[in-house]
Amino acid sequence: MPSPDSSRGSLTSEDVRRHNLGLVALALTSGPLSRSELALETGLTRGAITSLSAELIEHEIVRESDRIAPEGRGRPKTLLELSATDVALIIATLDADRVEAVVSTLDGQRLARFSRRHGRPIGDPGPVVDALAQVVSEALAHAASVGRPLADLSVVVWAPVGGSPAVVLADTDLGWERVDLIGLLQQRLPRLRAAQIPLIADTSVAALEEHADAGSPPHLVYLKSDSGIGGAVFADGRALTGAAGWAGMLGHLPVIADGALCECGQHGCLVTVAGPDALLANAGLTDVADTDGLDAALERFVTGVRDGRRGFVDAWAAALPHVARTLQIALLTVGADHVVLGGYLAAFAEDIADELARIAVRAGGATPPQVTASRLGAEAALLGAERAARLRMIDTLLG
Ligand SMILES: [Zn+2]
Repeated sequence: MPSPDSSRGSLTSEDVRRHNLGLVALALTSGPLSRSELALETGLTRGAITSLSAELIEHEIVRESDRIAPEGRGRPKTLLELSATDVALIIATLDADRVEAVVSTLDGQRLARFSRRHGRPIGDPGPVVDALAQVVSEALAHAASVGRPLADLSVVVWAPVGGSPAVVLADTDLGWERVDLIGLLQQRLPRLRAAQIPLIADTSVAALEEHADAGSPPHLVYLKSDSGIGGAVFADGRALTGAAGWAGMLGHLPVIADGALCECGQHGCLVTVAGPDALLANAGLTDVADTDGLDAALERFVTGVRDGRRGFVDAWAAALPHVARTLQIALLTVGADHVVLGGYLAAFAEDIADELARIAVRAGGATPPQVTASRLGAEAALLGAERAARLRMIDTLLG
């Protein structure tokens, strides 16, 4: 609650209030709740919930439901629900092999999924965007056919994103340099309003979901590798973004002095020694990646290491110290004590924890960081994109 002495902090109290309004609205995206359930869910006091829900009802964001909670002890409780629940969120995704568009509800149900392979025409965005426009059209048509107005459409790419308006900075899997993906999509679907379609890097939404799944610790370092190596750094509860959205690009920490030239222009980036391409080449699996895809090749790699196959074990042993060193640098930069690993790295959480413990700070009673493997796997990015869409929708509702 705002402090009674708000003479020097009216903006701050307003921020807190808006944040709390958002918390209440967000809790209701998973379905109707009573005021006391909302208090439990959000950690706010019952009094705060009464006042916040009155404001949300006044602005027609929330309404009292016709349904009432089943009678337990005491009188039945009126449930609150969001006014606009019958909407659709559409998340379009583009990775090295395929495009997809998922139609989701606010409470995370997936109503439909449209998917196709784009054929990986290296260096030519045209056919890829054609395929993307196709699945987005199908998703829009599906949402319309079930009578759900579109509340949010976003596009997630397995590549770094930056600039304003946001563009794909480079996609090494597709041989792209800078590509204005949303602009190209709008040329094919003119009724879309490009300014309202966020373009998001998979790592940033995967990190958002992994951070929530880890219990939202204030300081956390996230590192994942499925194509390239991506990361995110949380400090004081928020993911750092940096000047051009480059914060947390841990795959491009130049950890080896005078190392190999990286596609980013630096030498000795982590990705040049521990990225999928480097690992698979060292393990003799490049052909498998070419024929069966990167995911299948990485699975073979992980199994090979677990089975103790010599070439695979050696390839991982060469990469491990660099992965740990990169994490240690990131951990010390923000004073984090928790690491979450995604992609192929999740399979090696124990090795990475051991190596981090070996190189950790020993002075001052410091303890090694907690290291956990992602429980969400490849779903993290989509789940995170749905979470981000809910947050944007509530932000828009709050005005
Ligand atoms: Zn690099």
